[in-house]
Amino acid sequence: MQRITSLFIALLVLSCIFWLLELLFAANPAQPRLRNRLGLGTDLIYWFMTPLFARAIARFGVGVILVLVYRQTPTELQAMLASRDTLLARQGLPLQALEMVVLGDFIGYWLHRSFHGRGLWPFHAVHHSSVHLDWLSSVRLHPVNDWLTRWVQASVLVVLGFSPLAVAAYVPFLSFYALLLHANVSWDFGPLRTVLASPRFHRWHHTSEAEGLNRNFAGFLPVFDILFGTWYLPRDVLPQHFGLDNETMPEGFFAQMLYPFRRVSASSQHKV
Ligand SMILES: [Zn+2]
Ligand SMILES: [Zn+2]
Repeated sequence: MQRITSLFIALLVLSCIFWLLELLFAANPAQPRLRNRLGLGTDLIYWFMTPLFARAIARFGVGVILVLVYRQTPTELQAMLASRDTLLARQGLPLQALEMVVLGDFIGYWLHRSFHGRGLWPFHAVHHSSVHLDWLSSVRLHPVNDWLTRWVQASVLVVLGFSPLAVAAYVPFLSFYALLLHANVSWDFGPLRTVLASPRFHRWHHTSEAEGLNRNFAGFLPVFDILFGTWYLPRDVLPQHFGLDNETMPEGFFAQMLYPFRRVSASSQHKV
């Protein structure tokens, strides 16, 4: 009950903050402030369901992966990992945090890019289905998409020797940053536009317009899109159309949960 209350308070506070930001700095001023009832209702169910149920399974999955990896590890290495006496852990905390963000985002970039491939796309299509991109649309994520991303990202970072506590703080930070990325604001962070992922950067990722397809996969550091040839951020143009191009996503929460299993073999315009 306490968890539900916290989520409700967070929803109210964030609604006020983003209501103001989206009013003052709208990227698409014509976009409705309140989406159609079914779309908004669906995202509100994601808002509560993901932290309450999906994240518990995500944590459990990371635990299982770590135990399996640990069992396959030589005894000396096990002792080193258990005492956190690794090369990484011996470094100062600021350097560790920087390395974790860079490596975590590198993994996130390739996972996200994989979800745009034919096999995983039906799970990720759910996230791309909102035709109006605002801060709350960020939470529209199929649990399989959420689990696979978290399992791989968190397990690799912990196995490499980063502090589990630091990793446990880093992953929610990315989710929180994602709220800003999806907000209907036009910011591109000026001189930092190639350094930090911005709302304008991520709007181009969500557009159904041809120029933006399979662009801007990074969740925090656009350098990976620049390095791997997927960066797209024109200075004076903003995308106008969002959502899926040639497939129709049901609006209801439970229909969206089932959608990937009905469409696993579907081809997609998002195939990389
Ligand atoms: Zn995507
Ligand atoms: Zn997104």
